[in-house]
Amino acid sequence: MQSCDVLVIGGGAAGLMCAITAGQRGLRAVVIEHANRVGKKILMSGGGRCNFTNTGASPAQYLSANRHFCKSALARYTPAHFIELVDRHGIAWHEKELGQLFCDESSKQIVKMLLDECEAAGVRIHTQCSIERVAHGDSGQFHLHTTRGAFSAPALVVASGGLSIPSMGASGFGFELARQFGHSVLPTRAGLVPLTLSGKHQERLEDLSGVAFPVEARCGKAAFHNHLLITHRGISGPAILQISSYWQPGDDLRLDLLPGQDALESLHRWQAQRPAAELKTVLGDVLPKRFAQRLCEVWLPNRPMKQYNEPQLRELAAQLEAWPLVASGTEGYRTAEVTLGGVDTDELSSSTMQSRRVPGLYFIGEVVDVTGWLGGYNFQWAWASAHAAGSAVLQE
Ligand SMILES: Cc1cc2nc3c(=O)[nH]c(=O)nc-3n(C[C@H](O)[C@H](O)[C@H](O)COP(=O)(O)OP(=O)(O)OC[C@H]3O[C@@H](n4cnc5c(N)ncnc54)[C@H](O)[C@@H]3O)c2cc1C
Repeated sequence: MQSCDVLVIGGGAAGLMCAITAGQRGLRAVVIEHANRVGKKILMSGGGRCNFTNTGASPAQYLSANRHFCKSALARYTPAHFIELVDRHGIAWHEKELGQLFCDESSKQIVKMLLDECEAAGVRIHTQCSIERVAHGDSGQFHLHTTRGAFSAPALVVASGGLSIPSMGASGFGFELARQFGHSVLPTRAGLVPLTLSGKHQERLEDLSGVAFPVEARCGKAAFHNHLLITHRGISGPAILQISSYWQPGDDLRLDLLPGQDALESLHRWQAQRPAAELKTVLGDVLPKRFAQRLCEVWLPNRPMKQYNEPQLRELAAQLEAWPLVASGTEGYRTAEVTLGGVDTDELSSSTMQSRRVPGLYFIGEVVDVTGWLGGYNFQWAWASAHAAGSAVLQE
């Protein structure tokens, strides 16, 4: 039996950061990772350049049954703290858009930085180590029985992530463990994921795969102004990935095809300036031509601009500003960036991430019911929740 102060399950963003924080406090932290290496999602993130934080991160960009839960941790470990760490390791970075920070070179640098910090903090990491059983003894010790022997510690941090991308080591282990200790797990579903179309909707757009343009995607009260990308099976692109976290089958999804402009005003202007031009032609100047043409073949009545009367122009404007697209589902966990739902925050302390049911047990990162928007927010939650737990664990 190997004993230590803190056992961390999962060597992803949250697990490594938590072990580093605890290790820096002089605690003996051990990370148990079942995959053959740590930080696999960091490596594949941000197209290989890791969008490691967002300078504008605030509780407003997170979904959770309790919107207030993430506030404390996010306020105490901010993007500036992580940037300071990245700078200290000499990693060059740039802001892409909307506060999103990426490595200039490679995500590998972030994993190396975390591993160097682990080494400096005396963290021990066991990869290819599968957990067979977790027990909580009368003495308050947690015992992990693994394929690499038994481990015990007075504190156990669950940082095993969500269900997205099973091929990268994702598992439902954290949710099962939470249930084992009497915690509720809120229903999970894929988030930041492409939407699929079916039937006529798919047939009408399928051959436009690869076409991209800006839209405002809306569902309920959520709205995202960014690019849409038509795919073979449906729609993707940042606007769609963002709205997918708010959409569920049956929900009304609307796309503003002329975001940032008043469609009726534009139609009036085109009618006055180009009366003989057909709708598909004028729309082809503001939308990709092939998409404008398809729109006017199957969804909108196409004729010369001068032939539309005022009620018809109003109807066209309404269609262009709130184009209804019926999605049939999502691509699921296979391609989702995150898992929505998870360990219920009602039973966790928002300042330490400690279980209110079992002293010494902590849940951090994606396994918790806190999910960020696209754009570096999910890593910021991983760093911040990990830092909260790593700072609090075994503190008198
Ligand atoms: C393709 C892709 C790109 C992304 N890009 C970005 C981005 O650019 N910016 C951003 O902010 N977010 C991004 N995300 C989301 C981000 O990767 C996650 O939110 C973040 O990794 C969550 O950190 P975590 O430590 O909680 O979980 P993970 O990083 O998933 O780590 C969990 C770890 O636990 C291990 N594990 C699981 N089960 C067990 C078990 N039973 N025993 C031992 N170990 C186990 C896993 O192998 C894994 O190493 C992306 C996600 C994907 C899939």
